[in-house]
Amino acid sequence: MIVRNCEIEGRITDIKIAKGRISQIGGNIKGERYFDAKGGALIPGLHDHHIHLNAAAAAMNCVRCGPPEVTSESELIRVLNMKGEGWLRGVGYYHSVAGEIDRSWLDNNGPNRPVRIQHRSGRLWILNSLAIDHLSMEAPKDGRLLDGDNTIRSISQFPDLRPLVNRLLSYGITGVTEVTPSNGAAEYENYIKAAKPLRLTLMGKAELSLVQSSHLKLHYHDHNLPPLEELTAEIISAHQAGRNIAAHCVTRAELMLTLAAIDMAGAEKGDRIEHAAIADEAAMEWMSKLGVIVVTQPNFIAERAAAYLKDVPREDHENLWRLKAFADRGLKLAAGSDAPFGDPNPWAAMAAAVKRPKGFEAEAISPDLALELYTKPADDAGAPARRVVIGAKADLCLLDRSWAQAKLGLDDVTVKATWIDGELVYNLID
Ligand SMILES: [Zn+2]
Repeated sequence: MIVRNCEIEGRITDIKIAKGRISQIGGNIKGERYFDAKGGALIPGLHDHHIHLNAAAAAMNCVRCGPPEVTSESELIRVLNMKGEGWLRGVGYYHSVAGEIDRSWLDNNGPNRPVRIQHRSGRLWILNSLAIDHLSMEAPKDGRLLDGDNTIRSISQFPDLRPLVNRLLSYGITGVTEVTPSNGAAEYENYIKAAKPLRLTLMGKAELSLVQSSHLKLHYHDHNLPPLEELTAEIISAHQAGRNIAAHCVTRAELMLTLAAIDMAGAEKGDRIEHAAIADEAAMEWMSKLGVIVVTQPNFIAERAAAYLKDVPREDHENLWRLKAFADRGLKLAAGSDAPFGDPNPWAAMAAAVKRPKGFEAEAISPDLALELYTKPADDAGAPARRVVIGAKADLCLLDRSWAQAKLGLDDVTVKATWIDGELVYNLID
C-alpha cells in the first residue's frame, strides 16, 4: 500500500508499505492501492506502556443500574441502551427502579446485545435471551438466576476485549503493555488472541516464561511492604531467570524501598518503575544512578488535580507526577494510561503533559516530548522513540492535520487511520 501526500517530520511526501515495513519514502511513488493522507501528519503508532486490558474492558461495558445514579424505569432503559457492543454488565439494581424485571422485560427494553444485571444484594443476576444463549448450563426461563455466580463466571472469566481494542485503534494506538500483576499463563493465552491486532507486551507473575513475559510485576503497597531482604531476593531471582522487574511505586515509601532493593540486587537494563507519582530530588538522583525506566501517567495530574490540591501536602506538589525534571535529568521515560484507573485516550494525556493544571505547571513538557513518551518501542520503554523511516515496522498513525497544527492542541487531534504491521486496522471514513 502507498500512503500519498502525508507529512513526515515536517515534509510532505509519499510512503510505500510492503511486507509489514516501510519500504520507500519519497515523492510520486507509483502503485495501485493508495491512501490519500491529505497532508496529515504520519507518525509512529502510539504505544500505551501501562494498561490493564481486562479491567478496562469490563469497566467500559459496565453500567450502574440502581440508586443514586438510576432511580426510574425510563432512566434504566436509557443507560442500558447507551452506545456499545459486546457483553453489557449492569450492577447495583434495586426493585425501586423498575420492579422485579426479568428476561422478557430486558428483551423488550434493553439493547440487542447480551445483558446481565446484578441485583444490589449480589445474589441475583437477571439475564436477557442473548445472555442465556451464551450460558454453558440451563438458566431459569424468566432469566432470574439466584446464587448463580459460578454459572456467570463460566461466561465472564475474561471480558470481551473488542470494544476496548477498537477504541484504542481509533486513538492511533498500535501496541499496549499489559501490566496486571496477577497475569499468569491463562491470561497470556487469552490476551495473545483477544488483544489482536494490537502489538502486545505482557507482564505478570513469576511463573510466566521468558517468551510470555519479559518483566516480573512487583505490586506492593504501603500497608503490606515486604522486608528489604525479601524484595531484594525477589528481584535477584527474576534477574537470574533473565527477566526484568517492573515495580508499582506510588508513594514515597514504596519508591524508596524499591530503589533500595534494586540497588542491593544490582539494576539490570530494562528494570522499570511504574508511576513514580511522588519523586523528590533524592529519589530522582537515585533513579538516574540506577538507570531505571520510569513509566508515568501524564493524565492523572489533570484527572485528579482538585483532589491533589486538597489532599496532598503543599510541599509535595512539586514532586507530583513529574515530567520536565525527569526529562531534564535524562531519565528514561515513557507513558501509559493505567486504564481503567485513568482515561485510555493518549491524546488527552499528551495534552495534559503540555498544559498541566494550575498549581502543577512547572513540570510541563513540549508536545514533541509528550509524543515521544507514547512512541517508544513496544518491548523497550527505555529506548529512543521510534521514527517513520525506511525499514521501520509499519505501525503507523495518520492525523487529520499537520504536526505543527496538532501541537497547538493535542486533545483536538482526530486520528484518521491506523496501521499495524502494514495492515490498515482503523480507518475513519469522512
Ligand atoms: Zn496499573
